[in-house]
Amino acid sequence: MQKNTLGSICIVGGGTAGWMAASLLSSALQGSRIKITVVESPDIATIGVGESTVPTIMDFLRSCQINLKEFVEATSATFKLGIRFDDWLKPGEQFFHPFGRIGQDVNGFEFYQVWLKTLRDGHATRWLDHSPCAIMAENQRFMLRPPQQQNWVLNSYSHALHLDAILAARYLRELCKTRGIERVEATVNKVMVDERQFIRSLELDNGTTLASDFFIDCTGFKGLLIEGALNIGYEDWTHYLPCNRAVAVQTENASGLHPFTVATARDAGWTWKIPLQHRTGNGYVFSSQYCTDDQAIDTLRKAVSGKLLNEPRVIPFTTGRRKKIWHNNCLALGLASGFLEPLESTAIHLVHKTLVHFVRHFPDRDFESYTEQAFNQKINIDYQEIRDFIILHYCTSGRDDTEFWRWCQAMPVPDSLYEKISLFRERGQIEHIPGQFFTIDSWCSILDGMKVSPKKYHPLVNEFDKQYLATLMQESARSVRETVMKMPGHEEYIQQHCAVK
Ligand code: FAD
Repeated sequence: MQKNTLGSICIVGGGTAGWMAASLLSSALQGSRIKITVVESPDIATIGVGESTVPTIMDFLRSCQINLKEFVEATSATFKLGIRFDDWLKPGEQFFHPFGRIGQDVNGFEFYQVWLKTLRDGHATRWLDHSPCAIMAENQRFMLRPPQQQNWVLNSYSHALHLDAILAARYLRELCKTRGIERVEATVNKVMVDERQFIRSLELDNGTTLASDFFIDCTGFKGLLIEGALNIGYEDWTHYLPCNRAVAVQTENASGLHPFTVATARDAGWTWKIPLQHRTGNGYVFSSQYCTDDQAIDTLRKAVSGKLLNEPRVIPFTTGRRKKIWHNNCLALGLASGFLEPLESTAIHLVHKTLVHFVRHFPDRDFESYTEQAFNQKINIDYQEIRDFIILHYCTSGRDDTEFWRWCQAMPVPDSLYEKISLFRERGQIEHIPGQFFTIDSWCSILDGMKVSPKKYHPLVNEFDKQYLATLMQESARSVRETVMKMPGHEEYIQQHCAVK
């Protein structure tokens, strides 16, 4: 072992974030002698929501060497191809945000640009006709992507999971047991910090003290270490995203297992519907400025189909993130690091992304400030990207039928987002930095769904022959549909390959 290498990491919290950290680190640190311990309180419950994911969950499973079908079975999961947004543009209208690629670039030009030209030329296909995931979702089809194929459609789609958060944490906990991770069942009573603002040890309610070289704070919203002990501060983004509460309830499955999350705009926010194999997760994210808890519960009860399996539970939150996510020998992860409403199901993704950045910037006992700074810059960019993408849904909505939506019509928008939307309005172009999660296709899907029409398209695309492009569009849409319609149904696929036993 290099002299300066960390000897131990202590993860505090046994929710999704805590067990994801333990699982990923147990793989990434394989072969090292760094001891990993998870402290899990038997008395403080996990949040128990967080059931819709994005395709990077597959990268997480691969990094942890977890078998996908086994994980699907164990977490009662279903497959997810994107999100259907109901009533966002106006009541009665819906659009889809699919995962994966949409169309294929033409002679080096983005597909969206070429598609725009054909639209202006009068050869209209829908934007989503060129999205394998959207057509799969529309027809409730699914199969895992076969290895590299000739057919571009089969190479262009990706998927995520809807999973039971409690079962997922349990699965990962069992996995960690087999990998030599130590689990301590206790509640942390006190965090001991030295004069340099380094955490030295934890006092547990079983009378013992736990020392470690590094601590990962996965204690949920309160951030017992990062905030409670280190007072790092919180950057509040409520002025951009005013929703500050959610009410969640589980129901029996009343309709089929659709391979997408449904997000429906409501009077003071939006509701989610997430189908799992054994039940459905539902919730209403709302702003307490425009809606009381009772009104929210009433709205949610009316919105769900299927018998309620528990009493609706209200969860308050503050949108934003810690001023520093890594400080000295403490990393904040999951809800302890910050919170963005789950409109694009990005929290579990951010847990994974934080861990990936952390492993890349893995410290030694010198704890150089440049390493920490580089990490914090990276994760801040990720947070900001997701924040802007979520704001996009509100600031482009056409709704003005309630006080909440009228506020959105004139809402403040960060400069970073304003610039992005302005360029799109001008010429249908999206500035995209490699490594960012939301692709050009994702931005175009929301903007197209909200009927934001660019004034122009890329001037060089005008040089293409009209008829050539019209044929290309027809052929693209045809090949997507033809390939998708050969796939099995989503439910049928689960039944055959990964149904809960
Ligand atoms: P928690 O689940 O709160 O776990 C905290 C852990 O810390 C618990 O084990 C607790 O026992 C432990 N702990 C606390 N204090 C102590 C102490 N003193 N001593 C010892 N242990 C302690 N994410 C998505 O990706 N997709 C979604 O669709 C989604 N939907 C969401 C909907 C809502 C309404 C909310 C609020 C969140 C949603 N999330 C979603 C986020 C997701 O739930 C979390 O990111 C994820 O569950 C991680 O939670 P966590 O582990 O950080 O915290």
